[in-house]
This record gives sequence, structure tokens and C-alpha cells, in this order.
Amino acid sequence: MRSNGHYDVIVVGGGAIGASIAYELVQKGMRVALIEKHQPASGASGAAGGMLAASSEHFAAPELYELALQSRALYSQLSEQLHELTGINIGLRTEGFLLPIHHQQDMDWESRQRRISEAQAKGMEWWDNERLATEEPNVRAEDGMLYNPAEPQLVPSLLTEAYVAAFIRLGGTLHSDQEVIRLLREPNGRGLVHGVITEHGILYADQVVLASGLGTSRLLAAEGLRLPFLPVKGELMEIRTPIPWLHHTIYSDTIYIIPKHPHRIWVGATSKPGQHSTIVEAGAVVELLMRAQRYVPILTKGELVRCWAGIRPGTPDELPYIGPVRELQGLWVAAGHYRNGILLSAGTAKLMTEAITTGKDTFIPHAFRPERALYQLSSASNRYQRGGIATGHNVRES
Ligand SMILES: Cc1cc2nc3c(=O)[nH]c(=O)nc-3n(C[C@H](O)[C@H](O)[C@H](O)COP(=O)(O)OP(=O)(O)OC[C@H]3O[C@@H](n4cnc5c(N)ncnc54)[C@H](O)[C@@H]3O)c2cc1C
Repeated sequence: MRSNGHYDVIVVGGGAIGASIAYELVQKGMRVALIEKHQPASGASGAAGGMLAASSEHFAAPELYELALQSRALYSQLSEQLHELTGINIGLRTEGFLLPIHHQQDMDWESRQRRISEAQAKGMEWWDNERLATEEPNVRAEDGMLYNPAEPQLVPSLLTEAYVAAFIRLGGTLHSDQEVIRLLREPNGRGLVHGVITEHGILYADQVVLASGLGTSRLLAAEGLRLPFLPVKGELMEIRTPIPWLHHTIYSDTIYIIPKHPHRIWVGATSKPGQHSTIVEAGAVVELLMRAQRYVPILTKGELVRCWAGIRPGTPDELPYIGPVRELQGLWVAAGHYRNGILLSAGTAKLMTEAITTGKDTFIPHAFRPERALYQLSSASNRYQRGGIATGHNVRES
């Protein structure tokens, strides 16, 4: 098989996670190849809403909340850096989010006031209807909304393209339209990974990072390892408006409405666990519009420009897998960022780059470590190694 070169690191997957890691590594002077099955941003990263909702979102563990806050803090400078290097404007908008708080059956007046006070203690403001009418005349609310000035948003496909363009500009090599079929492993010891086999040949590297989203499980399964993922389909739509109808992102439990430049508003997203298809169901359009018009009634008068769907790479505990794969020396995973991978991409890249360049991974929180969910399959199909020597695997079912 043809050899296509030797790198310090090969990153598999040109989504926001892989592209951000590749960009960060190349800045540290490493020789890096980024391999993408299709084109960059063709997976979940091209379908996302682009909200960097570190303090509005609920996270499954405090470690993830911390990473989200750290990551969010990086985007202002990152946006400038990427623009300088590539000329790409990632569409970062910093007007902030509006959060509806409803009188619900399970939330009495006191609980609601407590929630508002807690939010105010975190730097959010209460905008009553008078203030809302001044700031956002097209928005309707019961008696007001919380305003969170800290949350930005951007265009995820542009962010991913900018990461990749900056990576190339700094000397990185992109192999697009190339699927990684298998990992390349030494036949001895702990099965050292030293490259990948693609449909076009072999690429060698000292370390390999799987940032291949939902595709990560297939690559690991080929090595006799199981890492569980939960796909969650989401559908969005874009509405063109004659003039800007909205300036702040509306972020509620059931819908988000995100103003994009120029005169576009994204409305999303459905949440359909277990679905892999990226068709947009007609019912999704109805569902999204019904929910959105509650807050921005004028939206139904806009021009429906496009609808799309993507699959969130979820995990059973809703935490990402970030860190080394102990079973296979030289192999790392950064995947499973579920509904916040755009937000978490900058922070994940910092964590991974620090670990790879220093050889120390102790600062990666245990909550993110792949070993919490990884186990070895006992399947006889796992008989491949470079040189054709089979490995024996211990079964560690979970
Ligand atoms: C509808 C929707 C809305 C969302 N909204 C937000 C949001 O507002 N904010 C936010 O932060 N996040 C959001 N997300 C989540 C976010 O999109 C994901 O968490 C993030 O994109 C994951 O990035 P990734 O790089 O891990 O995966 P992906 O973007 O899926 O990238 C993985 C890449 O690996 C490639 N690949 C797979 N297998 C191979 C192989 N064998 N060889 C080579 N390449 C391979 C794929 O082609 C793909 O391009 C949303 C997601 C969806 C679907």
C-alpha cells in the first residue's frame, strides 16, 4: 500500500472538534495531518445553531460547566486570530441571550422569583415588558425575560472552515474526501498505534486523535473496542427577514431563535434520540414555527429559505470523551460533545494539545475520560494487526 507521509499527529475528523485540535497543535509547531471523510463541517458541525451557551445551558457535570465557561472565554480573541490568518469572519455576535421564564404549574411565584434572583446574582438582568419593547419590539413575553449578556453565538460552518483554513495556512495538511478505514498498529506489546489506513493509502504518525464524531465508534470497534454513542437528530430552519427583526438570541427549553447576519433568523431545534437520517420531516417545520411564534409572532411572515438536519453526537452520560485510549498506546479520543460541541471546541483543543505536547494528561478531568465507558469486545472479528498477527482481548463488559 502507498505511504503518504509521516506526521507527529494525525487528527481524524474535520468537524469543529478535529479542526480546532489540528489548528491548536500546528500552532505548537507540530507536523499535523487532518483527515476528513467528506469535506470539513459536513457532519454535526455544519448543522449546529452556533450558540455558545455556557451559562444558559444545563450541564451533566460541574467539570463540563467549567470547560464550557473556559471555552466561551476564548472566542473573542479566537475570532480575531482566525480572521487575521484566513480572512474568514466566523459571524461572532455578542448581543447576548433572552431567556423566557414562565409561570408553570410546577413553578409557583416564589420559586420563579428565586430563579430570577439566582440568575441576577450570576450577572443576568430582568427585562420587563417595557424594556423588552424598547430593545426588541418584535418579541412577546408574559411579563418579561431574563437577559444574559455573557452568551455569544456564531456561524458553526464558518468557524470550522476558519479553523481548517488557519491550520493549512500554518503548515498543516488536510486530506479531505478520504475515509480512515482502520488504525495502523504495531503487532507487539500493547498494540501501539502509529498511523492510519485510508482508502488512498497509509499515513504514519506518532499519535492519532479520533475526533470523528459518531464515526468514532466504528473505528474503535474495528480494533475490538466499544465506546457507546447516542445519536440525537436535530432539525433547524432559516428565515429571511426584510430588515433585522431580532438582535438577541431567544433561548428557551423548547425553542431557540438566533439572529444571523444578514437579515436571517435560525429557528431550532427538534430533538429526536436514536435517529440517524438527515431528512427534514415536514412536521418539524410546523413544530418549530408554532413554538417560535409564541415569542416572535412576526416570524411567520418571513421567507422560509432552507431547512436542514444534523445528528448530535451524544453519549449515555451526556459527557464528552476526551483523553487517551489506555488500551492502544498513541491513540486519543475527542468526541461525543452532544449539543455543545461548537461551544466546547476551543476548550477541548486546549486540553488535548496540552496533553499531547507535554505527554501529561493528568489535568484532563476523570469525568471526560474514555475509560469510564470503554470496553473490549471479545469478538473473533478483531483479528487484524499490521503484519496479520492477532491480538487477544480480555472481556470487560459493562
Ligand atoms: C441541530 C443541531 C444543533 C446544534 N446546536 C449547537 C449549538 O447551538 N451550540 C453548540 O455548541 N453545539 C451545537 N450542536 C452540537 C454540535 O454541532 C456538535 O457537538 C459538534 O458539531 C460535534 O463536533 P465533532 O467535530 O465532534 O463532530 P462532527 O461535526 O460530526 O465531525 C466529525 C467528522 O468526522 C468525519 N469522519 C467520521 N468518520 C470518519 C472516518 N472514518 N474518516 C475520516 N473522517 C471521518 C465526519 O465526516 C465528520 O465531518 C448542535 C448539533 C445539532 C445537530
